Amino acid sequence: MTFPPSAVIYLDHHSTTPVDPRVLEAMWPYFGSEFANASSQHQPGRTAWAAVEQAREELARCWQISPREIVFTSGATEANNLAIKGILQASPEGSHLVVTAAEHSSVLDVALRMRRRGYRVTIVPVDKVGRVSPEAIAQAITDATVLVSVMLANNEVGTINDLAAIGEICRDEGIPLHTDAVAAFGRIPIDLSKMPVTLASFSAHKIYGPKGMGALVLRKGETRIRLEPQLDGGGQEHRLRSGTLPVPLIVGFGVAGKLVTQELPTESQRLEELSHRFQSEISQRLTGLRWNGPTENRLPGNVNFSVEDVDGSALFTALEADLAVSSGAACSSSNPEPSHVLRAMGVPDLLCRASLRLGFGRTTTIADVSRAVEVMTSAVNRLRSLGHQ
Ligand code: PMP
Repeated sequence: MTFPPSAVIYLDHHSTTPVDPRVLEAMWPYFGSEFANASSQHQPGRTAWAAVEQAREELARCWQISPREIVFTSGATEANNLAIKGILQASPEGSHLVVTAAEHSSVLDVALRMRRRGYRVTIVPVDKVGRVSPEAIAQAITDATVLVSVMLANNEVGTINDLAAIGEICRDEGIPLHTDAVAAFGRIPIDLSKMPVTLASFSAHKIYGPKGMGALVLRKGETRIRLEPQLDGGGQEHRLRSGTLPVPLIVGFGVAGKLVTQELPTESQRLEELSHRFQSEISQRLTGLRWNGPTENRLPGNVNFSVEDVDGSALFTALEADLAVSSGAACSSSNPEPSHVLRAMGVPDLLCRASLRLGFGRTTTIADVSRAVEVMTSAVNRLRSLGHQ
């Protein structure tokens, strides 16, 4: 995969990824000659619909589910909103929701809004590597619980949760489990036929697909899920998500999903090697680094660390001309507050602010990693010598 050369090395693939040229090529015709509305009954409409259904089948194969279980949305933010608001609004008054403290804001902020609207919400703490224990989830569940939402993998520190155990608990209690699988897709295998999960959210732009595209998977299990649609209109997507289908984006999502699944075994190993190389190279050059997140059961290509004795914003500014990295979650970077995930893990505020998240991806080479080590080492040494603490 080749990209135009840039002065800045992009190491922020958890934030977003470039569209793969193969994905772009597949999308093109649906912006042009094949522009028809996929809901139309005429022949061009049927061609567009066939492309939508092919993408749905490709994604269903990636996740080992039936194509009928996929609801296309504008992204994972919408999928998370639809899952949580949809289930709570279809449930009796006083219903209870369980989420974890390390969820993405598109889960946590929805939970907080629903609490303001009178629903009961429990936010379960995570441990010092960002993992939630299945026992803590079991303890949080009450007779009024109608949904549990636990992310499969964390987008800041790469922690992978034990969804098998959490799902068993939920299944025993007859409560649906929703998972935000955005950060995990393409980095670890996701077989939803084996995972005891009822709903799962995905996003195309994290897997070299287009922005503005995602999906909510709704497993058709023993228990029928009632979900209040958030958008009414033309009745697309089994009446759960009205709106004209964005055919080019759906086609791109399907191809991106297929490619990322095919390439996962070799790519995840390569990303893991890059992470280890980065950690060992920088540890030889700098002292006072604190690694955030787990050493095992972690997303390949994710690195998160705090730098002692350096001011966080000075460090970020010093790196900016050479490296695109994230200080906390990109989605909340307009908000200067320290990352809620690191805070939930017990990282002191000063170290949260002086923390960096790297997300290696398809564009990352060994040379990029070595260059990042070099740039970071000289920036940290310079700031420390100037007393930027
Ligand atoms: N969940 C996680 C874990 C994410 O990282 C993101 C994107 N930052 C989202 C949800 C929201 O996805 P989208 O951009 O497709 O709305």
